[in-house]
Amino acid sequence: MSDRLPRLCGHLTCGDFDLGGLLSRDGTMESRETGENNPNSSAQPSSNPTALEVLKSLDRESARRAIAARLFMNGSAPVPVDLSYRLHEGERVEPITPDSPEALEIYRHSTSHLLAAAVLDLYPGTKLGIGPALLDDPKGGFFYDFQRDESRFTPEDLPKIEKRMRDLIKRNLEYRRIEMPKAEAEKKFVELGEPLKCELIENKAGETVSCYTIEGTPFIDFCLGPHIPSTAKIKAFKLLSISGAHWLGDESRPQMQRIYGTSFFTQEELDAWLKQKEEAERRDHRKLGAELDLFSFSEQIGSGLALWHPNGAQIRKSIELFLDEELFRQGYSFVNTPHITQSDLFVTSGHLKHFREMLYPGMKDDHDAELEFRLKPMNCPFHIQIFDSRPRSYRDLPQRYAEYGTVYRYERSGVAHGLMRVRGFTQDDAHIFCTPSQLKDEIFGCLDLIDTVLRTFGFDYKAELSLRHPTDHSKYLGSDEGWKLSEAALAEALDERGIPYVRMEDEAAFYGPKIDFKVVDAIKRLWQLSTVQVDLNLPQLFELEYIGADNKPHQPIMVHRAILGSFERFFGILIEHFAGAFPPWCAPVQASVLPISDRFNERAEAIERELRASGFRVVADLRSEKIGAKIRDAQLKKIPFMLVIGEREAESGNVAVRDRVKGDLGAVSVGEFSARLGELVRTRALTT
Ligand SMILES: [Zn+2]
Ligand SMILES: [Zn+2]
Repeated sequence: MSDRLPRLCGHLTCGDFDLGGLLSRDGTMESRETGENNPNSSAQPSSNPTALEVLKSLDRESARRAIAARLFMNGSAPVPVDLSYRLHEGERVEPITPDSPEALEIYRHSTSHLLAAAVLDLYPGTKLGIGPALLDDPKGGFFYDFQRDESRFTPEDLPKIEKRMRDLIKRNLEYRRIEMPKAEAEKKFVELGEPLKCELIENKAGETVSCYTIEGTPFIDFCLGPHIPSTAKIKAFKLLSISGAHWLGDESRPQMQRIYGTSFFTQEELDAWLKQKEEAERRDHRKLGAELDLFSFSEQIGSGLALWHPNGAQIRKSIELFLDEELFRQGYSFVNTPHITQSDLFVTSGHLKHFREMLYPGMKDDHDAELEFRLKPMNCPFHIQIFDSRPRSYRDLPQRYAEYGTVYRYERSGVAHGLMRVRGFTQDDAHIFCTPSQLKDEIFGCLDLIDTVLRTFGFDYKAELSLRHPTDHSKYLGSDEGWKLSEAALAEALDERGIPYVRMEDEAAFYGPKIDFKVVDAIKRLWQLSTVQVDLNLPQLFELEYIGADNKPHQPIMVHRAILGSFERFFGILIEHFAGAFPPWCAPVQASVLPISDRFNERAEAIERELRASGFRVVADLRSEKIGAKIRDAQLKKIPFMLVIGEREAESGNVAVRDRVKGDLGAVSVGEFSARLGELVRTRALTT
C-alpha cells in the first residue's frame, strides 16, 4: 500500500484503493507468507524456556487465554511469535489474547491452515496456494487458494469440509513449526508435488525456511507464522463461498479456486457478522442501483466508468448543492481544471516516476512528437498551478481551492465492485495553501466541515491521526521543523475540538502527517471517507513561495482534504447506508401524487405543478392503475411521501399524505404539506 498512488496525493479516501481485502491480502502475503528476517526462525537450545512457559510463570490465566506471544528483543518493535518459541537471553514476552489487536489476524490465518488441512485430508493431491487472513473484508475473514487436477469444488462441498475441520478441532492437533535449509525445503515441496510453493520458496525464502504442519494431517505449508498452538483454540468459524482466483493474482498463471471463510473468537460474534453480511447483501448498492435506476456501467464504455442516471445524478446534485453552501460558508473558492495535462506536470510531481502503472497510458500529439498528454490521476498539481500563477504575499493566504475534480486511475483488474472501485471518479477535492501560523486554524476549518457533512448524512465517525515514526525519520521527506509544526497543529486541533482519535505512529504519508476519518454506517460497518493531510513535499517540488511580512520568500504549507472522497464511492456507501431510502432533501423524487382514478388526474397535475413551482421534486402518477398498485410502486421506489387524491380531497383542496415509513398521516392542505416538506429539506432532516 505504501507505494500506491494515493499516498503521494493524499486522497486515500478516493476509495478506489482502500478496499480492506486487497490491503490485508497484500500485507499478509508480504508479512506472513514471505520475508526473511523472521525472529521466529533462529533455532534455540531446547533448554531455553518457551514463550508459553514464561507467560505461565507470569500469569496463569492470561497464559491460558493466549493464542500467541508478543516478543520484545533488543529495543526494536515487538513481533508476534508462536507460544512454542524459545526465548533468547534478554528477550521478553507478553501474551497475545483474543482482546489483543494482532490476535484476530493470527487466529484467522490459522483457521485458513485448518481449512487447507481438511481439504488435503478429503481431497488428496490438491495443490496449495496461499491462505492469508482478511480483516474488514465483506467477503470473509480468510481464504485459501487451491488447485485440483481433475475436478472442482462446488458449494455442496463446503459443509463436508466444515465437518472435517470440526473433527480436526475436536482432536486438538498441534500447529508445529519446522525449520530446514532452503534446498531441503524445495526438495520437500517438489516431492509433495507442490510447484507453486516451490516457486514461493525460491523467490521469497531466506537461507532457512520455516514450515508449519498440523499434526496428524497431511498439511505442510511454507509460512513465517505465528499460529495458534493447536486446533482446539478455534471456537467459531464458517466457510462462505468459492470463487475463481489466479496464482499470485496474475491472469496468465494457473487458474485456482479460492474458498472464503471467516472465524471469530465466539459464536456470538460470528452470528452477528453473518447477520450483518445478510443485511449488507439486502442493501447492496449494485442491486439497489438497478432497482431504483440510479446508475449503470456500459460494456461499450468500459469497466469502472460509471453512468449516473437521472435519479442518481439528482441525488448527486443535491449533495453538491449542500457542499457548495458549506464551502462558501467556510471561505473556499471554487476552481475548475482540465481532465488532461502534458505529462511534464506529473514528472515534476513525481507521479510518473513512482506511480506510472496507475496512470492511463500517454497520448501522443501527432504534430509534435515531443508532446505527451495524460488523463489526470489527481487534482493537486493543477491547483498548485493556480496558486503559482501570480506572486503571492502573506496577505493573500490562506488560498482555499475546492473542485469536484474528476480523475482517472487505471485499475488493472478487479473492477467489479460497482461504484466502490472505479477507474474514473470525481473527488470532492480541496487544497489549502497557508502560512505555518495559519495551519491550525485551517485544520479547525477542515474538522468542522467534515463534522457538519458527515453528521448531516447520519454518520458517526472515528478519527485516526497518523504521525512519523517517533525516532526513525529515514522514510519521511521534509524538514524536522515542518513535521513538528504540522503534527502539533493536527493533534492540538483534534484535542481542542474534543474529537477522540487514535494516534498511529509511523503511519504518516511520506510527505506529511494526516487525519483519516472512518464513518460508521447504519449497519455498523466502517468506511474510510474523509482525510486531511499536510503536505511538506509538493510545495517544495513545485518551488512554491509567498512573500512574508519580512519581505522574504517563504514556502507555503499545503493541505489536501476530501470529505466524501469520491462521489462515486460515497454514493455507493450512501445507497447502502440508507438502504436506498434517501431522506427527503436528497431523494430524487420527494413526493408522488396519486389520483385514485382518472377523474382526479387534472387535480393531481395541478398539485404537481404547484409543488414543483415551490421547488420540490414531485411526480404525478396518472396511469390507469388501482390506487393500491400505485402506492406499492411508490413504496418500491422509496419515495418519501405519497399524496393520495380522491373525491373528498379533490373537493376540499387537501391531499391525503402517506409516509413511506409511517403510513397514513391524514389529510392536509397543499400549502401545509409544502411547508412541512420545505422544513424537512431546509434542515436536511434524516427522517420524515
Ligand atoms: Zn501460516
Ligand atoms: Zn491533493
